Amino acid sequence: MWEFRRAKKLINMSNKIYIVAHTNPDGDAIGSILAMYLALKTLNKDVHVIIPSYSKTFSFLEHLDEGIDKVEEDSYDLLIAFDSSDRTRLAISEEDFSKAKKVLMIDHHREKDRYGDVCVINAGKPAVCELLFDFLNYMKIKITREIATYLYVGIITDTGSLSYSNTTTDTFKAVSKLISTGINFSEIMYNINNSMTESKLKLIAYAIDRMEVYEGGKIRFAYVDYETIKSLGVDEEDAEGITNYLRSVKGTDVAIYVRGKSDGSLKVSLRASERVDVSEVAIKFGGGGHKRAAGYTMKEEFDIGKKVVIEEFKKLV
Ligand code: 5GP
Ligand code: MN
Repeated sequence: MWEFRRAKKLINMSNKIYIVAHTNPDGDAIGSILAMYLALKTLNKDVHVIIPSYSKTFSFLEHLDEGIDKVEEDSYDLLIAFDSSDRTRLAISEEDFSKAKKVLMIDHHREKDRYGDVCVINAGKPAVCELLFDFLNYMKIKITREIATYLYVGIITDTGSLSYSNTTTDTFKAVSKLISTGINFSEIMYNINNSMTESKLKLIAYAIDRMEVYEGGKIRFAYVDYETIKSLGVDEEDAEGITNYLRSVKGTDVAIYVRGKSDGSLKVSLRASERVDVSEVAIKFGGGGHKRAAGYTMKEEFDIGKKVVIEEFKKLV
């Protein structure tokens, strides 16, 4: 792959490297940055990983405590940005972004903003961790058991445990190779799937109880304001993940979950059945994502924002 060659060259030319992914990191974001962090350490690079606040779901992973939240120096050679098609969603300030001499973007979302000097973008990959698996093999970097753990976390979380339709035979082959390094895949799965707090369970109950249904059940909508999230004791990073429950009801084509954030903004999370492409709508409203999972931050007041998104989807279902 042409981009792999250019990306490799960029890494070989660089010494001081920072790695970042999107804010509110999911398993794919955390997995890719930590896997790359360890991989570049084996090349003796001066490598740093930026990790914003994350869900306790991931606290079983090692090296998270080595994450920093900003760049301490005036300039650095290379910024590697994972899992974000949108520069403004990266967990790095504009100032720290501009301190990078070069930027390497590695992503698997629908193309939106090519903010890198080199952009390795493959929307055919269900997880950026699978793309990174290919790239590390291309770089001839040994995928140790530890690196494999992070790549596995990313692939498993972004594919719904290898169940979503974007999962390919290459994904299964990659996972097979990762498991052959000796990772404890059942323990990793257990940690990811059984880490919910009681307050999160109460948030799910609250949101589902207030669910609104449109078009005979094809559209499901739920909203939780920030005060409620706070009073239930749910961490901001843990307040997502409701949308999948809405979609899991038979006959649902579009699930919309809106949550208030501590900064006063409203985050919209979209999920779709195989019949609808929610990325189109997310991009239209200033966000992005994949066909079956996308999101954006609402620009309007809640009532108007809610109305326009529901109207938009009524045209599609
Ligand atoms: P989630 O609903 O899990 O927050 O996000 C689903 C998918 O949509 C993810 O792949 C995520 O990267 C993308 N996404 C969510 N919110 C935004 C956003 O505000 N901007 C962009 N560009 N993508 C988003
Ligand atoms: Mn991803």
